[in-house]
Amino acid sequence: MSTLALAFDLGGTELRGALVERSGEVVARVSEPTLAGAGSEAVIGQIIVLAGKLLDEHPQARVIGIGACAPGPLDPKAGIVIGPPTLAGWHNVPMIDILSRQFGLPVRLENDANAAALGEWRFGAGRGAASMVFVTVSTGIGGGVIADGHIYHGRRGLAAEIGHMTITGEGDRCFCGNVGCFEAVASGTALGRRATRLTAPGDGSLLRRLSRDGDVSARHVVEAARTGDAAAFGLVEAEAKWLGIGFTNLLHLYSPEVIVMGGGLANGFDLLAPGIRTTIDERAMQAYRDVPIVPAELGDRAGLVGAASLILWEGEPGTALAMVQNDEIKTGGPAGSREANHG
Ligand SMILES: [Zn+2]
Repeated sequence: MSTLALAFDLGGTELRGALVERSGEVVARVSEPTLAGAGSEAVIGQIIVLAGKLLDEHPQARVIGIGACAPGPLDPKAGIVIGPPTLAGWHNVPMIDILSRQFGLPVRLENDANAAALGEWRFGAGRGAASMVFVTVSTGIGGGVIADGHIYHGRRGLAAEIGHMTITGEGDRCFCGNVGCFEAVASGTALGRRATRLTAPGDGSLLRRLSRDGDVSARHVVEAARTGDAAAFGLVEAEAKWLGIGFTNLLHLYSPEVIVMGGGLANGFDLLAPGIRTTIDERAMQAYRDVPIVPAELGDRAGLVGAASLILWEGEPGTALAMVQNDEIKTGGPAGSREANHG
């Protein structure tokens, strides 16, 4: 059996684990609901149990390390999960230290959006691009930026919180407390909210029939728009415009070769794409307008394979400075030598 990494994608609702090959192939996969309210020790206990399960089922596996991703804010350089809003009782948890002591293997950590960006870049829709922006549009909006062959981290690894760039001065308040965040106006949640406000229980609209007179979700909107429902189509057009405005900002900021859109709303990508393109053509400067906007290819395994690649592709294009610095701390060696290898 080839060389493998153990990969974990720790989410607020689901904890996923996998054995992943260098090619991005997932050899085995396990998951269970995250004990999100039980604190960090309980969840790390879950990770250890899932790892044991994967290794027991594949005793021949040559596992060379562990790549993990978790919700931000998270410091990949220090290996610390700072305090995600979706995980109760997590405050500055030294995840790399804990897991490397437990397993005696090298451990790398990345925030979930960056890991998914790495996955799509190395194995999915962003293959071959030197610069790429990955945007995940679902309950919220997250993202990761590949800039000139590296994941772009910024101070403490906190860069690319693209869901919280301000793109309008009004509208609903974002969970971050601000008004007009990209996420607050363009996430799947925001689309569902607009659809819910546009309709009323018992009004007989297709949207309310699909939602059984409950709150309308983004999924209902996409489903209704596919049947040609005019109200749903109008909502999709408005959504595409907000996404197009956000994407225009990303084009101007990072000049990627491609923008990859993932997340639950990517299921409606074909419906959204024309409106996104129109908005970009209206708003982006000429030199940026020909950049392709494409749907993600890896679905919910993007984070797992991206996290695994932190181990399996280390030292190759895309290895972050953060990882090199982390090695330097452990081995006392210079960061410069390895950095030079992929310059
Ligand atoms: Zn916000």
